[in-house]
Amino acid sequence: MQPRDLSDHVAYEAGRGIEEVARELGRDPSEFIKLASNENPHGPSPAAAVAIREAASSVSSYPKSAHTDLSAAIADRWDVDPSQVWLANGGDGAIDYLSRAMLEPDDDVLVPSPGFAYYGMSARFHHGDVREYELERAEDFAQTPETVLSAYDDDRIVYLTSPHNPSGSTVDLADVERIAEETGDDSLVVVDEAYGEFADVDSAVALLEGRDGFEARDDVAVLRTFSKAYGLAGLRLGYAIVPEEWADAYARVNTPFAASELACRAGLAAIDDDEHVERTLETARTSREYMREHLDAHVWPSEGNFVLVAVGDATAVAEETRERGVIVRDCSSFGLPGCIRVTCGTEAETDRAVETINAVLEDVA
Ligand code: PMP
Repeated sequence: MQPRDLSDHVAYEAGRGIEEVARELGRDPSEFIKLASNENPHGPSPAAAVAIREAASSVSSYPKSAHTDLSAAIADRWDVDPSQVWLANGGDGAIDYLSRAMLEPDDDVLVPSPGFAYYGMSARFHHGDVREYELERAEDFAQTPETVLSAYDDDRIVYLTSPHNPSGSTVDLADVERIAEETGDDSLVVVDEAYGEFADVDSAVALLEGRDGFEARDDVAVLRTFSKAYGLAGLRLGYAIVPEEWADAYARVNTPFAASELACRAGLAAIDDDEHVERTLETARTSREYMREHLDAHVWPSEGNFVLVAVGDATAVAEETRERGVIVRDCSSFGLPGCIRVTCGTEAETDRAVETINAVLEDVA
């Protein structure tokens, strides 16, 4: 027997790890650095690493209280009600919960192109249809109200990504407000802030809560993750912050115990580890500025922990940099040919990436 017809469903292309790449090329893993998946170059929050070891002996129990404690800590962090925090298996899991909560068969979902692939994948799994709004290279991939609203057609969910993956552009809150205002009452605007910590723009939580001069809205949700600034990508921990009016929806849509005991305990420790986050943000700022200045190619301004670089034949360039030990992301998988995305690394990693990419550009071009 076979699964149902999945021919419309594309597989998510996760960046491969160093071990996998080294095995494929028959080389030693120590020869490589990976700047392809926007991971934290400083590793996990040290406080979280301790919490994981301490939590190891309690994994025989279901994580009910850990879940509750973490939701409360996140709610505290954002000054929202704990019922507004939808914990999930990564930001990806939170996207799925929003799909579950919002979509009826054949509802439309509007996503940026280029953009993060999982929005569309999740919509399709939940029997929605995916439509795209095109971002212009020449306009630095800006998600302006004009761009989004000219494509909008009663879509049930509209995704904005701020900072945007893969370009690093951001959306300011006045624009999010205008988009939410002008899309219909039945459309939810999801602001994906997976890289929000790295950016100078304010979180769209202000729109949900009616802060900073904005009126409170019930048609905006915000996505956040512990994968990037907190360095917990391997634990799979993220969340959505939803309008207060949705109080009992989470219990109806979530997978029982949506985040594991280890993930919750680590998240609880990480959320207070300001020192690790600050160090991470400082590294990202320094690295992205350095790459903008020193790469011999067009580099878009970025507020994320990565930069987008125009390189011509991105597949050839990414292959050759990998051959020389630096793994970067070929953006063809984002529907963006001609570009690579390079994650911000430590000073040594950034130096090596810049040197290698510049040498490859000279040899391949
Ligand atoms: N949104 C964006 C824009 C991302 O780039 C990612 C990670 N690649 C996610 C959400 C999801 O991250 P995670 O599931 O690791 O929390």
